[in-house]
Amino acid sequence: MSIYRKYCAKRWSNKTIKRNLSTVTPIDSQLYIHNTDRMALKSLQAIPLFDKICSKLLSLMNEPQRRIIDMSSKIQITEDQLPNIYRMVKSICCKIGIDMPDLYLELDREPNAYTYGTEKFSITINSGLLECLEDDEIYAVLAHECGHIACNHVLYLTIGDFILHGGSYGIEKIGNALSKSFVGGIVTTTIESSLELAYYHWQRCSEISADRIATICCGSAKPVLECMMRLAGGTTHIDSEINRDLFVEQSEKYIELTKENKINKALEFWLTKGCTHPLLAVRAFEIQQFANSDEFKKTLLYSRD
Ligand SMILES: [Zn+2]
Repeated sequence: MSIYRKYCAKRWSNKTIKRNLSTVTPIDSQLYIHNTDRMALKSLQAIPLFDKICSKLLSLMNEPQRRIIDMSSKIQITEDQLPNIYRMVKSICCKIGIDMPDLYLELDREPNAYTYGTEKFSITINSGLLECLEDDEIYAVLAHECGHIACNHVLYLTIGDFILHGGSYGIEKIGNALSKSFVGGIVTTTIESSLELAYYHWQRCSEISADRIATICCGSAKPVLECMMRLAGGTTHIDSEINRDLFVEQSEKYIELTKENKINKALEFWLTKGCTHPLLAVRAFEIQQFANSDEFKKTLLYSRD
């Protein structure tokens, strides 16, 4: 952890952030939003007042509950509490042109982070992340989470989570009530399944957009790819023996495996249809592809230093 502090103190000092605030133009979102993600967002935004009504409902019903949980059971990250993480996020917010979200640290050994909110956004990172990631990888995760805010994902992620899994008005409960009749059961089951499939498909595409933002903020695919390796099993104990290039090669072989073979493609669909994130090899492949693209080269202007 001492190396972590030294690194952050150098990279994310208040002076650097102040300089960035005055000189950095926010990154153009057209350069990083995944096509499917963009189309899905457009369709949702085309529904009259959809954003406003959902946002209002959630801010009344969901946000107060979330805030109680955050403030009572996590450590709030501020300029004086875990200041290096706070500075990292501030630096990212400058680059991508978003307001500073609330930040929290939660005790959980699983390396994870998540963002939610409708009017005031909030990012929570788990203690497991700080234990297993290096400094620039933590920065990449934070940039990924801020990316969800910049891409306008968070409202829809919060709505989806609320409708599908939580709250007294969740689809499951509506479905249970309607399925008391046979026809109602078939109809609601079909609607639930289609909605869930569409929702999870969009969510996986939104993760690709957020990975792209992380790549842009880091100025390189390296830390983002290394995050994927860590999540796939790369603990800090095997640092000297793991090879990022070989992991990228593995991801290319995986894509080949599913590209031509219909059975493999069907198996992949079955494996991921209810997943919120793309498979790690798919994410690694997409990150590498983006890092090689002209869009990424145009964004190098915004790279960290
Ligand atoms: Zn994400």
